[in-house]
Amino acid sequence: MLLKLLLISILTSTIATLGHEPTGWDYDHQNDPNAPENIEVELEKLQPVHGHNDYSQLVAIPISDAEIEAASKIDYVKWKQARAAKPHKDGSFEYAEHSYLGDSITLAWDDGQSYVAKYKPFKLPNGLQVTYGQINGLAGDFYGTVNPISDGKDLQEQRQRFLRAWYWLAQDTTRNPAEAQKILNTLSVEVNSVQAAINAHKDPSTVYPTIPDVTGQLQIHTLLRPDECPSYLGLAKINWDHFGVDARTAYNACHSVALQVAASGNLELAYAMNAFGDHFLQDSFAAGHMRTPRRKLHDSVGTADLCAKFMHDEDNAIGLSVKNPAGRSWHTYGDKRLYDKEDVSNKYEAWNAVRASADEIYNAWKNKTVPAYPNYSAWNYAPILSEVSSVVAPLFRADGQRREDIRKRCQAKYTNNYWYWSTAADIKLSGLWDYPIKPTSDCSR
Ligand SMILES: [Zn+2]
Repeated sequence: MLLKLLLISILTSTIATLGHEPTGWDYDHQNDPNAPENIEVELEKLQPVHGHNDYSQLVAIPISDAEIEAASKIDYVKWKQARAAKPHKDGSFEYAEHSYLGDSITLAWDDGQSYVAKYKPFKLPNGLQVTYGQINGLAGDFYGTVNPISDGKDLQEQRQRFLRAWYWLAQDTTRNPAEAQKILNTLSVEVNSVQAAINAHKDPSTVYPTIPDVTGQLQIHTLLRPDECPSYLGLAKINWDHFGVDARTAYNACHSVALQVAASGNLELAYAMNAFGDHFLQDSFAAGHMRTPRRKLHDSVGTADLCAKFMHDEDNAIGLSVKNPAGRSWHTYGDKRLYDKEDVSNKYEAWNAVRASADEIYNAWKNKTVPAYPNYSAWNYAPILSEVSSVVAPLFRADGQRREDIRKRCQAKYTNNYWYWSTAADIKLSGLWDYPIKPTSDCSR
């Protein structure tokens, strides 16, 4: 037996040395001997005219008040269809006010009534009053720990990690409720300035550079935290819980805890916890979060992370073709295209997913049973990751190769020979990542 094991281990290690084809991730993309002394400073000099690097992470998927009302009163699907049939009077300017996707769902409560989430805030254990949608927006991006949920070695560890992240939002009293209230205030100022620009009949894709950058302010609100709970930008640097298969892992862990809490009888706490997990579900509908190999694109200097951001922005802006297990296909964009009409089907599917997620919580509370992990109904609406496609060649592939020519968006040629820092520098110099990001001329051929 021992001999057999030994033989197997010798064999496998021989195979590993002889037959090992280095993949893109095995190449060293980080330690360029010819790189400038201080890469960060050099890259900073190449900053484009406006600095909206992190705006895309701030806003979930706002929808109009009219839509929120419709969701609460009538058959939402019918309302949607009637609306789609009529030509829009002035296109993208229909969004009177902004609210988060989660605020538009209807939550069934223990009094037998249903309430639109926007009008039924939760009181969290530490006294913070927030709606379902506000929790969606604060989760992950503003509240998390140094230990990403999807890094947990098994479901139990992932669940513990979620509970620590939840602690910093909902239980900690050293910083909250004041800190979260400050964050929400800052975010509402930003959302309002988007609205003001739109009201002034400016093209939505051109307003972003004029929006005051609140990244600094958000960073200040979250700077003096204990080590376990990173600042806003600190969390952004390790945010693979928000991408691809890791977002699914993160959601499944949060949702499984929320279901258990619901089945044990605490519906309000279960909804609030579920709203935290729904952040990762909603991110699963943003094009830039679908094929970006975020977990791999991370290094100590931050240049790999910057590369991830560029890929995120490119896919978000140009969009991807997707289909879901429910059998529907559509084209989806990301956060910065949220005013575009084309993105309606994506919003609709995302809305259905969040609604299904919350309904599952209610059913667990009512029936005292939980569905089997990880077969959760929300995923029926989310894009199937393996079937995401685009005319745009991915900037980075899952195997670690990079698009050979970053300036030819549709040329599907790839290379292992690249440095993170020079890729980032080249992208900045190209000007092709300034807004609005568009397909390059090779795409029309
Ligand atoms: Zn996110």
